[in-house]
Amino acid sequence: MNYYSLNNKNHSVSFQEAVVQGLAADRGLYFPSEINPLPSTFYDNIEQLSHEEIAYQVIQQFVGNEIPEADLKQIIAETLCFDFPCVAVEENVFSLELYHGPTMAFKDVGARFMSRCLGYFNRNSDKKVTVLVATSGDTGGAVASGFLGVKGVEVVILYPSGKVSDIQERQLTTLGQNITALEVDGVFDDCQDMVKKAFLDDSLQHKNLTSANSINIARWLPQMFYFFFAYQQLKKHHKPLIVSCPSGNFGNICAGILAKKIGLPIDHFVAATNANDTVPQFLVKGIYEPKPSVPTISNAMDVGNPSNFIRIQEMYHNDLNEFNKDFSSYTYNDEETKAAMKSIYAHSGYIAEPHGAVGYLGLKKEMALHPETIGVFLETAHPIKFLDVVEPVLDIKLPIPTQIESVLGKEKHRIKISNYEGLKNFLN
Ligand SMILES: *Cc1c(COP(=O)(O)O)cnc(C)c1O
Repeated sequence: MNYYSLNNKNHSVSFQEAVVQGLAADRGLYFPSEINPLPSTFYDNIEQLSHEEIAYQVIQQFVGNEIPEADLKQIIAETLCFDFPCVAVEENVFSLELYHGPTMAFKDVGARFMSRCLGYFNRNSDKKVTVLVATSGDTGGAVASGFLGVKGVEVVILYPSGKVSDIQERQLTTLGQNITALEVDGVFDDCQDMVKKAFLDDSLQHKNLTSANSINIARWLPQMFYFFFAYQQLKKHHKPLIVSCPSGNFGNICAGILAKKIGLPIDHFVAATNANDTVPQFLVKGIYEPKPSVPTISNAMDVGNPSNFIRIQEMYHNDLNEFNKDFSSYTYNDEETKAAMKSIYAHSGYIAEPHGAVGYLGLKKEMALHPETIGVFLETAHPIKFLDVVEPVLDIKLPIPTQIESVLGKEKHRIKISNYEGLKNFLN
């Protein structure tokens, strides 16, 4: 399978090159040159298939012959080593829990899949690749855990000092081996700027830098699996299906739309955002106007210029009529989010964290327009990851899950840096 740059359709590369480079040299995101629907027998029999069998069928065409069947199946098995339950919250409303992985964030799947693809491509090489990533919290933990011990890959994670939670910091700083955490005296944007600068720095060429955020196709594509797992569990209701994704960089929902392109019967998508409403505004005005991000309680979605939106525009041929047929986007502020968390808990006892609650609100709005439907929102993090919000809003005390407990007692190791020179000195 080839991938072209969204800045230049004539520039196309293999799956391997797209994974290793992350972004094309012209700064364009990679996009698959062909998208082929799966046979109807696959959808007819999906209830009989295991998660691993579904994932293999879904991802195979996008990898092509660049990873042999047995190796790809092994990568999938290691990626999907936990469950994805669809939990009933209200009549016809379900939560697809994506947080049962090692770091309790949905980014575990993408990080695990990407790391193992890189490991496979490095299997016979002495050349080391350095994954450089800036995190505002959740990404870093998932990348650290996903890449731990992968051959030929060094991981360097930059995080803003004092701006991530204690749990998140421990997930980044306690693993050791090939994972190094750099504590940056600054905010997330400073970390992000340093990473961007490093990618353009000729004096760091020899480090073979690559990124591990959702612009990388190996992190983006495996997110399709979630939508198939939801359909597999909800098919028996025989109703049109609405899926609502709490969206920040729009990688997750973009994978859902690709899943629909290969035939998955999803009737409608909702991209639910917090106060960062660039996409909801686009659907109203028809103009895409990125803006600086504003901080919210669902901070993993504080994105003012969603990097994957350009892929969604590609799939809808940037045509508002096509967009509106199966895509809506709604925005919610922190007060509405907290009210939703409270009301969900009061009515069903279900504990939603702020990102999931935003997804729930978007879902309910769309379902009110289409009462004959069934709906699922993606719950993208375990409530414990956002306990600073969940505990006071719901007035409860959350038990600590074992995945989190295991990092709490460990000692933090990080290197403090204050500017780009610090990063460069560390890398060289
Ligand atoms: C990253 C993240 C999101 C947003 O996902 P995108 O693919 O960037 O839209 C939502 N919730 C949580 C908890 C996240 O970590």
